[in-house]
Amino acid sequence: MASRENVIEALGATFGDARLIGQDQAGQRYNQNLTEFPAREIVCGVQCRTPAEVQMLVGIARQFKTPLYPISTGCNWGLGSRLPVADGCILVDLSPMDRIREIDVAGRCAVIEPGVTQHQLAKAVSALDAGLKINPTGSGKRTSVLANTLERGMGKLRQRSDDLRGLEAVLGTGEILRTGYWGRFENAAPGAASHYPPGLGPDPTGLFLQSSFGIVTAVVIDLLDDFEFDVVHCRCPEQKLGDMVSALSSLRRYRVLADGIQIDSSNDPRNLSLPGGDGTRRDWVLWTRIEGLSSMRDAAREEVNLALSHIGLKPTFYRRSEMDNPDLPEVIRADIKRTAGRPVDFSIRAMARAGGVTDPAASFDPDADAAFPGMACALIAVPFDGARVLDLLARVDASASEFAIDVACTFSAISATAFEGFIRTYFDRREPSAINTAHQWNHHLHHRLIEAGIYPYRLNVEEMAQIFDGTTSTLSATLEEIKNTLDPDRIIAPGRYSVGAGP
Ligand SMILES: Cc1cc2nc3c(=O)[nH]c(=O)nc-3n(C[C@H](O)[C@H](O)[C@H](O)COP(=O)(O)OP(=O)(O)OC[C@H]3O[C@@H](n4cnc5c(N)ncnc54)[C@H](O)[C@@H]3O)c2cc1C
Repeated sequence: MASRENVIEALGATFGDARLIGQDQAGQRYNQNLTEFPAREIVCGVQCRTPAEVQMLVGIARQFKTPLYPISTGCNWGLGSRLPVADGCILVDLSPMDRIREIDVAGRCAVIEPGVTQHQLAKAVSALDAGLKINPTGSGKRTSVLANTLERGMGKLRQRSDDLRGLEAVLGTGEILRTGYWGRFENAAPGAASHYPPGLGPDPTGLFLQSSFGIVTAVVIDLLDDFEFDVVHCRCPEQKLGDMVSALSSLRRYRVLADGIQIDSSNDPRNLSLPGGDGTRRDWVLWTRIEGLSSMRDAAREEVNLALSHIGLKPTFYRRSEMDNPDLPEVIRADIKRTAGRPVDFSIRAMARAGGVTDPAASFDPDADAAFPGMACALIAVPFDGARVLDLLARVDASASEFAIDVACTFSAISATAFEGFIRTYFDRREPSAINTAHQWNHHLHHRLIEAGIYPYRLNVEEMAQIFDGTTSTLSATLEEIKNTLDPDRIIAPGRYSVGAGP
């Protein structure tokens, strides 16, 4: 391996000092994370503005055998924020690459770069007044649509990866690969030719999700029809949770409901502003939507009422026009806004408030401010089935009581068959013993669940380094072979999702 000084000198000569973040500053800027995972040794940071610059950076990384770790807006809160998995990386900060290359209204899609935030895209789409909207997450307005999609993050309306039509990535060889028709035919425009995402023959798009096979420089993503909708909200005590999940599963399979079915425990900081309920893990709150033509919504309202009243639950329906009604609790207004495709900072602000930060400024930094609560989480894919959800909760409770901590839980429909279980604990980051307990619980929970055949669908950077340690399956070996082909010097994101140790 070349000396740090040589690499930094080569980077400085190519990118200029203004876009090079030296080791001390990089260590400070990129290591802060709200989960308080241990700092990594970071060589430096480099800000890139174009795919050509990413190619140049890959060239230097190969020459000096120094790995790269790309981040887009770096808000991977709960999973490590900006931390690379391994030590010794150059952080590739893609936030300046923030062009919306095109919005194709007729094709209902947008071509965007890594630094495009959900706020930026929502604003640009709304300005067109074309009856389209984005699929926002519950995270901050400043987060990247592209990076969250690559993570298979959860949007309000469906899993973000369902929005993905195609992508452009710089490989570890320095070449640019594009997928779908965009990559196959020279005259294919990325947006217009993405109406049939797989294109022709094998489709490598999925290889770049939760992966270390390339640095993605653009994605083509769906814009959704901004149909009329009602938000459906319902409280549910734990005794009825299994029946409610089964009823929702049936409504989802019959397509009365789409994805975007979310059930939170009422100790979720967002729900603390809701009247009624007891604010505990055992009291639940349902959020979903019915949408479409007025006759479709009438029929869906009836079906939802019927299914929930069978188990003694009474849903409330909120119209889109109520999103600015000051008489409604903030959590309901925020839910209506997100359903309408508008990202809001409500979730992080609610989390800040629950930790005692009463009036966080719009620009506040949850990673840098130790008063902002810590969060450690497990993200599980559990079958969309009442009994399986209750079984998971029993295991979660057992592990929480072993560590004497409180947990909050959210379940979100990923598909007709799977629920995302977002299981987390909040802790005081200024207390070393609280940090230690949260980390130990998190590790313990992942392993206990895997032993029980309940698997994560997304991982934090600490678990990535540990979970598949020593695995020798054909799948692992095949992924390593693909890594060798696409990134022969193994310089991209070593260890991300447990593939490809560094050079
Ligand atoms: C209160 C709260 C609410 C949240 N709500 C949600 C939610 O509703 N849904 C959800 O999914 N998450 C949620 N999160 C988690 C997180 O904040 C989001 O997932 C966020 O979008 C991730 O940060 P980012 O978009 O800045 O991605 P980044 O941090 O930039 O990237 C995430 C990871 O993707 C990889 N990556 C990034 N860019 C590239 C690239 N160009 N090429 C290759 N690999 C790349 C890197 O490994 C990086 O570490 C929430 C967190 C909090 C604290």
